[in-house]
Amino acid sequence: MLSPFDDRGETEPREECGVFGVWAPGEDVSKLTYYGLYALQHRGQEAAGIAVGDGDQIVVFKDLGLVSQVFDEQSLEALKGHIGLGHNRYTTAGGNSWENAQPMFRMAPDGTDVALGHNGNLVDHRELTQEAARLGLVDPKENPSDSLVMCALLAADTREGHGVEEAAMELFPKVKGAFCVLFTDGDALYAARDPQGVRPLSIGQLAGGGWVVASETAALDIVGARFVRDVEPGELVIVDGDGVRSRRFAETAHKGCVFEYVYLARPDSVIRGRSVNGARLQIGRKLAEEAPADGDLVIPVPESGTPAAVGYAQASRIPFGQGLMKNAYVGRTFIQPSQTIRQLGIRLKLNPLREVIEGKRLVVVDDSIVRGNTQRALIKMLREAGAKEVHVRIASPPVKWPCFYGIDFASPTELIANNVDAADPVEGIRKEIDADSLAFVSTEAMIEASQQSSDELCAACFDGVFPLGMPSDNPNSALVETMLKQQAKKASTKP
Ligand code: SF4
Repeated sequence: MLSPFDDRGETEPREECGVFGVWAPGEDVSKLTYYGLYALQHRGQEAAGIAVGDGDQIVVFKDLGLVSQVFDEQSLEALKGHIGLGHNRYTTAGGNSWENAQPMFRMAPDGTDVALGHNGNLVDHRELTQEAARLGLVDPKENPSDSLVMCALLAADTREGHGVEEAAMELFPKVKGAFCVLFTDGDALYAARDPQGVRPLSIGQLAGGGWVVASETAALDIVGARFVRDVEPGELVIVDGDGVRSRRFAETAHKGCVFEYVYLARPDSVIRGRSVNGARLQIGRKLAEEAPADGDLVIPVPESGTPAAVGYAQASRIPFGQGLMKNAYVGRTFIQPSQTIRQLGIRLKLNPLREVIEGKRLVVVDDSIVRGNTQRALIKMLREAGAKEVHVRIASPPVKWPCFYGIDFASPTELIANNVDAADPVEGIRKEIDADSLAFVSTEAMIEASQQSSDELCAACFDGVFPLGMPSDNPNSALVETMLKQQAKKASTKP
């Protein structure tokens, strides 16, 4: 899709974070980590960093920018060791500053180095920050990110005879929210996942025997690692000279993010045994059954709308075509666009193929609608390129609620689904984006396509059921609670 997170008027996806760790003596771990992060670039494009441990000390190199902007041959050469820990960041807690780039680094009172990378968002950020502040570890006025607070608490509790592993076993049961955490003391690599397993985290093995842990299985493939298994929710995995060990800090209570299947993850990743591409294809097929359209051509909004569009075309028997060319390298350039460039908006990212589109009744398949601005601009552009009709089909239900678990959506009042006539929101959104017809896949079909049971998934941004609760320090929490109460009241007074 263009940008479900276009609340800042941007055309880049605004996602979460990616983590990648490797334990492999004798291998070039900094370069393996670099390529792992490269494969996970879609999960965070604001900052990148790598920590390398050699058994003695940890060296961290991080900066704002894409992986390819942050690192070069020289910086990677300087990172020598047997453990690599990498992080791609998109700001979800704390600001976008160098200090908030990861991996985080803290030194324990006994001199142990601790580096940590985190994907997710904690719901008890405020409480943990207060605890860390009480211990003199952070200054709350500096708005420390949840990741820094976790790193500070871990390091502070690491001492002679009570290593970082024991500190983690005491800290993680107290932490609430979404976290896939990789950390190291320079000797072992540790990987932990919240008891609900909101974000994915998988383990693979290199041909030479080394171990890799990554946010997505596609990153394992890209560095030549064989998928071994997922890190279980509530599990702490330890990789060191003795091999791989597992400890449990909480019971598993699966609530994986369904939006990973729809949009966030790469299609060539597998989450909890289900191919993301397979899920998207199935959603597209189901969408064609649930919402047929009279069209001449199915076109995707590249890239994340593509598998669902293929599925839609297969099931509807309407030909599939590429009607929009994506400028794949526009990325986050860090160059402020001038007013003239800004006005190009969507054109910076997508260019319509007039000869494919002209005179056609198009079925345009996209993965989600958040604010609707991008779809409105896209439909206008397609009509200008000669489309006769534009029928929009969306591979997820309407997004109505923000995510508190690591994805940056707009505030609930900015979401288009909350700004149209509640009696017929689909028709309201259709009018707003000026489509000839509009349909969303049902929640049931989306969940079925993930091949996970509905009670083991989080679908809060669609249904408003927040399985891990809401953070006390986020202004959207109170707003969501009020809106949910109003909805419940309205529903109960309906005849
Ligand atoms: S609220 Fe939405 S994006 Fe966030 S974890 Fe749940 S399903 Fe995923």
